[in-house]
Amino acid sequence: MNDRKTLDQRQQMTDLERLRHSSAHVMATAILRLWPDAQFAYGPPIDTGFYYDFQMAHRITPDDFEKIEAEMRKIAKENQKFEYQAISRDDAKAMAQSGRLGGLSERPGNPSRYKLDLIDKIPEGEEISCFKNGEFIDLCAGPHVGYTSKCKNIKLMSVSSSFYLGDESKGQLQRLYGTAFESKELLEQHLARLDEAKKRDHRRLGRELGLFHIDEMVGQGLVLWKPKGALVRRALQDFITEELDKQGYSQVFTPHIGKLDLYRTSGHFPYYQESQFPAIAERDVLEKLADEDATCATLINGLADGSYDGYLLKPMNCPHHIKIFASDPHSYRDLPVRLAEFGTVYRWEQSGELGGMTRVRGFTQDDAHLFCTPDQVAAEVTGCLDLVKKVLSTLGMNDYRVRLSLRDPASDKYVGSSENWDKAEAALREAVQTLGVEYTEEIGEAAFYGPKIDFVVKDVIGRDWQLGTVQVDYNLPVRFGLSYVGADNQPHVPVMIHRAPFGSMERFTGLLIEHFEGKFPTWLAPEQVRVLPISEKTLDVAEAAATKLADAGVRVTMDRTSDKIGAKIRLARLDRVPYMLVIGAREAEEGTVAVRHRDKDDLGAIPLDEFISNIKAEIKSRSL
Ligand SMILES: [Zn+2]
Ligand SMILES: [Zn+2]
Repeated sequence: MNDRKTLDQRQQMTDLERLRHSSAHVMATAILRLWPDAQFAYGPPIDTGFYYDFQMAHRITPDDFEKIEAEMRKIAKENQKFEYQAISRDDAKAMAQSGRLGGLSERPGNPSRYKLDLIDKIPEGEEISCFKNGEFIDLCAGPHVGYTSKCKNIKLMSVSSSFYLGDESKGQLQRLYGTAFESKELLEQHLARLDEAKKRDHRRLGRELGLFHIDEMVGQGLVLWKPKGALVRRALQDFITEELDKQGYSQVFTPHIGKLDLYRTSGHFPYYQESQFPAIAERDVLEKLADEDATCATLINGLADGSYDGYLLKPMNCPHHIKIFASDPHSYRDLPVRLAEFGTVYRWEQSGELGGMTRVRGFTQDDAHLFCTPDQVAAEVTGCLDLVKKVLSTLGMNDYRVRLSLRDPASDKYVGSSENWDKAEAALREAVQTLGVEYTEEIGEAAFYGPKIDFVVKDVIGRDWQLGTVQVDYNLPVRFGLSYVGADNQPHVPVMIHRAPFGSMERFTGLLIEHFEGKFPTWLAPEQVRVLPISEKTLDVAEAAATKLADAGVRVTMDRTSDKIGAKIRLARLDRVPYMLVIGAREAEEGTVAVRHRDKDDLGAIPLDEFISNIKAEIKSRSL
C-alpha cells in the first residue's frame, strides 16, 4: 500500500460510502457469527458497494450468501451503535494479539494477524482508533453511520480470491463483495440495472450473434471481426463516410507502422513507450548486435536515444497525416485541409484490463486531422460537433454531455501564444453552446498543446460511455515545421485539430451492441431479412424471393432446414433478425410474403415488391 491514504483522506467519505463501509463491518460481524475463526484484513467501500478481504477455513460460495445476508439483516434489526474509540498503539497491538480486533471476542491462539500488520503500517504519530458495533470490534479510522439499522438494504454480489494488500507472497484471501443503498427502491433499481447490463453484455452477445472473436493465439485485446460484425462496422463506416464527404473531408490511407524518427519528432517516442508495443529494430541493427553478443539493454537504449533506427506500430495516426499535409505547399486559400482515415493504431494495455471490444490493444479510430488558420478553428470545431450530433441522433442516443477541458491560466506548461489559446477556448465554448447539450468546463484539464472537447454518452440503461475527442493542437505543427502562405505572403504555422469523436470502431460497436441489446436497427443489422419457407414445397419460391431481395441490395438469408416454422421463427428472433418473411403455399400462389418483425410480431401478408420498396426506404432513411 504505497498509496496509503492520509487519515484526512480516509475520513472524506460520501454518505453512501460511509453506509457501504459500515455494511462491510456488518458483513464481517455476520461472518464471524457463522465462522468464528475468520481473520479479517481490509474492507473499503468501492464504486459499486463494498468488499471485505478475509481468510478462514470454510470457502465461501454463493450458496452461503443467503445465510450471511439473513444474519446481516438480523444485525441491522438489532440496531447496534457504531462506537468510536481512540486507542494507543500498545493497546491496539495487545487487542490484535488476543484475536480481539476483527473478532467478536478474544480468540486465544488465533491472533488478528492482518490487523497486526495494518497497525504496523500506521505512521508514528497518527491516531489509532477502533469501531465497535455489538460484540464486533475492528481496527478502523471510520467514519461510520450511527447505527446498524441503516445497513438493512444490502445484497451480497460475488466472492473471489485476492491477496493481502495485493501482495502474492502473503497468501490468498477470500474477497466477498456486497452492495448497500439508502433505500430498498434504490437497491432494487441497482440490481435491475445489473441484470439488464448482464443481458446486454457485448462480450456474450458478440459471441452469440457471431459478431466478433478474441483468440488467445492471435493475442489478447486483438479483435477479430467476424463476417456479421464486419457488416455492422461497414454500415457504420459508410454512414460516417457519407457525412464526412458532405463536410468536405478527404479520405486517406496510411500504413500501420512508421519509422522511429517520425515518432521522435512527434514526441510519441521514446516518452510514451509504456503504452506502446516495443519498437521493431532494423534488421541490420539486430544482426550487428547479435554478432557483438550485445544485451537487450544495448538495443533498447540505442533505440531510445536514436543511435539505432527502427519502426513502431503506430500508436497515433497524426504523424502520417501531417506528412501528407507537408507533402504539398499550401496557401491560406487551400485551408482548411481535412484528412480522414479509419486508422488502426496499437497501444499496450495491461493484460488485466482487457475485455471484449472496450479495452483492446489494436483498434481503428474514426480519425481525422484538420489543418486550418487560427481564424478557422471555431467553424471547424462546430463542423465536428455537427457530425457527432448527426451520428448520435441517428442512433437514438440523445442523452450525452460534453466536457470542455481548458488550460489553467496560472500554469506555464502550455505551448502556443496566450492569444491563440484564448481564441481557441472561446471557439470551443461557442461551438459547444450551439450543440444545446449539457457541458462542463474543466480548468487545467487541457493537454499542454491545446484545449479539447470530450463526449460522454448515456446508454439506454443509464450507464456513461466515454467516447472520443476534438482537440486543438499548437504543438505538432511547430514540431514538424508545417507552414502555409498567408494573405500577407508570409509563412504561417497552421493550427491542427485532431478529432476521433466516436473513439474507436471497436469501442463504439461494443457500445452499440449493448445499447441495442444486439437488435440493431435495420440499416445496421448484419442480417436484415430471413426468408422462411414453411415446407419443402415452397423452397423454390422462397429461393427466388431471397434472390430478388439480394438483387435489391438487402442483406438476406434463408432458413433451408426442415424445422417446423415455429422453430425457424424462434431462431430468427434469437438472432435478432429485423424481418422474417414466411412463405407458405398461399403466399407462393399469390406472390406475397407473410411479414413478421422481431418486435412487432405479425404484420400480415403483402406483395414481395411492396415489402422490398418498404425496407429499402427504411434502410435508406436509417430509421430506428
Ligand atoms: Zn470501519
Ligand atoms: Zn491525432
